[in-house]
Formats: sequence, structure tokens, C-alpha cells
Amino acid sequence: MKVLVINCGSSSLKYQIIEMDNKEVLCKGLVERIGIEGSQLTHKVPGKDNYVIKEEMKDHQKAVELVMSAITDPEHGVIKSVDEIDAIGHRVVHGGQKFAKSVLIDEEVKDALRRCTDLAPLHNPANILGIEACEKAMPGKPNCGTFDTAFGMGMEPKAYLYALPIEYYNDYEVRRYGFHGASHDYVSHRAIELGGLDPEKAKVIVCHLGNGASISASIGGKCVDTSMGLTPLEGLIMGTRSGNVDPGIMQYICNKEGLDINGILNVLNKKSGVLGMSGGISSDFRDIEKAAEEGNQDCVNALEAFRYRVAKYIGAYVAAMNGVDCICFTAGVGENDIATRKLICDEYLGYLGVKIDDERNNVRGKETLISTDDSKVKVYLLPTDEELKIAMDAVKILSELKK
Ligand code: ADP
Repeated sequence: MKVLVINCGSSSLKYQIIEMDNKEVLCKGLVERIGIEGSQLTHKVPGKDNYVIKEEMKDHQKAVELVMSAITDPEHGVIKSVDEIDAIGHRVVHGGQKFAKSVLIDEEVKDALRRCTDLAPLHNPANILGIEACEKAMPGKPNCGTFDTAFGMGMEPKAYLYALPIEYYNDYEVRRYGFHGASHDYVSHRAIELGGLDPEKAKVIVCHLGNGASISASIGGKCVDTSMGLTPLEGLIMGTRSGNVDPGIMQYICNKEGLDINGILNVLNKKSGVLGMSGGISSDFRDIEKAAEEGNQDCVNALEAFRYRVAKYIGAYVAAMNGVDCICFTAGVGENDIATRKLICDEYLGYLGVKIDDERNNVRGKETLISTDDSKVKVYLLPTDEELKIAMDAVKILSELKK
């Protein structure tokens, strides 16, 4: 069974074809600059040279048509015809409160997504364009949607309500949603599987530490809390996003710098995080670590603040769940940054009985138990796989349809 996974941005489209019988990625690719001059598609098949198509793509429809021609290309393709694709799985950023799990997309679902556009004005319209382009280009194929926000729907009101006038929730659905849902869902379930934990009761914390970063607490795979909120700006310190700040800062800086609300939000989203704290050195943690090693004190502070914030969230989530069985590190930093994993655990989590095995922890990007055998909490490095999760959900939806 083959699933085509599509992740559409406003000017980009990422895709993969996954053979679900053995979870093999047959090909993956990226279309860039859709609707902008200089658009191109880069198609990658494991073990082969990249295949690049440079052609004007005025819209997502054209991009999907080129993806279809790349995947069926006699020389570079991986299938003879799109008939071999059983389903298409789409990543959808915001499902509002309506979608607590992945669904088969129909007109009603698309209408609901359009109604959520205010909540994700950049992402949802692009996701809908990608869905409609696939419907047109591959008529009759089932299109399934996996929502970034679905995992957070497991939260109870005490975790998802802001202390704001309740009308904002009732009238505008202002609440905490959480993002990176496919990743938190995939990694927490993988931890339960690998650790042989109780599938109903296991208390798992997932630290998704990438350029965008978030952390989740779940019991038996159901989300108890997660650090992002109405938007992906809340929570941890990220590459360029501030995470939690005192909202009063906004007015103060607007007055000092002559900014309006859009200006300050641009600073909080794009110029803050480790990029801002390092004085503009980089949003990439590797650059920040290098500069810190060379003695740059702003970079030392940025890294320490980043780890401290992660540790504070872990502490809060242990309290929220009244315990923890397993802590997982995933995404770019979580999978690759040996020192960050070690320092978070050694400096802050000793009271939980967390013990890291330095030899086991000396690894990147590979599923590994990095805690010692006598650690009271299992700690894992678990590479995330959002595309596989989207494809797995599509397979599940199809099998439920057949029942
Ligand atoms: P996103 O998907 O949010 O763009 P990723 O999960 O791909 O982000 O993570 C990207 C981040 O991972 C970058 O900031 C990069 O610095 C960091 N990263 C990758 N490799 C390493 C490494 N060896 N050490 C530290 N950080 C790393």
C-alpha cells in the first residue's frame, strides 16, 4: 500500500511516497517558490542523484501536476502511474476545535478548515489549496488530513483555557491548541511501544526541540498539556521565537521603538529566540554552540536559558501528571545535540531519579534508550517522523472505511 504525503506551505510543497508494507520512503521532494519567479522542484530517490525540474509554477495546481510527473517519470520516478497510490495524506496546520483526530477529507471538512482560517491565516489556505489540487489532479483518490492541533484536543479545560474573559473562548475559540501534534503523537506512542509501557497509563513527556520547539505531557498517548498555545509563539525559547514573555513587554517596546502590534509580533516570531538573545548571531543551535565555545557570553546565556526553560516545563508536566515514566527528545536539536540532552537531564532532573548513560547518549538521529538501566525514568532519543504518522493515519482511515 502506497501513500503520498503532502505538506503544503504558502509558496512551498513537500512530498513523500511511503510504501506502508515496510514503511520505506520511496521518494521525497520539495517544490519551492510556487507563484514566485524561479520556481523549482527537487525530487530525491534514495541512492540516486537528485532530479530537478525548473519550471514556472503559478499555483499549487501546477506544483501538484509536476509532482505527479516527477513520481511517474520513466527515469527518475518510483511508480508507473498514480493509480498505484492508495491514498493521499495531507498535513493540515489548524483544525480548530472540530478535529481531534485525522479524517477523510470531504466538502464538509474543507468548509470547516476554511472557517479556521482566521486561526492560521498563513497555513490553512495553503493546506486547502494543496488538497484541492490533489482532488483535481487525482480524482477519486481518498484525501486524508492530519492536523497539527489534533493532539492538543486531548487537553482538559484547566489546561487549555487562558485566564481571559470567557467570551473570547465562547465567541472566538481563543484557547490553547498546541502544535507539532503529529510529532508528539508519533513519538509518545513509539516510546510506549519501545519501552514496553502501559498503553493506557504511561506518563510520557516529549521534548520536540527543533527550530520550532514544543513540549508535551501525555497519559496513555492522550495529551494532558502542551507548551504551544493559540499560536506557535507560546512556550519554549525557539530558533527565532521568544516563547513565553510578559505580554506587558509588547506595549513597552512598541512605545520605545515606535512599533505597532504587527511590528512587535514580527519581532517575537522572527527576531527573538536564540537568534535575538545571541545578538543576531544565528537561529541555528550549532552556530550558537560554536560561538558559546569561543566565549560569546550572549550565546552561553541563550543556550542556558533554552535548557532551563525546557527543564522548567518538564518539572511542570511531572506535577501536572503526578509523575513521569518516560522522557523523549526529538527533532533537530533533540535528536542531534548530545550536550543539550545531557545537561537538561543532569542539571535539573536528578530529583526524579533520571540518570543518563554517557555512552548511550553519544548518538545522533537513532532510536536509543539514553538512560542507565537503573534510571527511575526511561529517557529516549526518538527521531520524529511526521510524514510516517500522516501516512499511518491515512491507512487507518482507509481500513475503517472498508469495514
Ligand atoms: P524545524 O523542523 O522546526 O525547522 P528541525 O527539527 O529540523 O527544525 O531542527 C533544526 C534545528 O536543529 C536547527 O536549529 C539546528 O541547529 C539543530 N541541529 C541540527 N543538528 C544539530 C547538532 N548536531 N547540534 C545541535 N543542534 C543541531
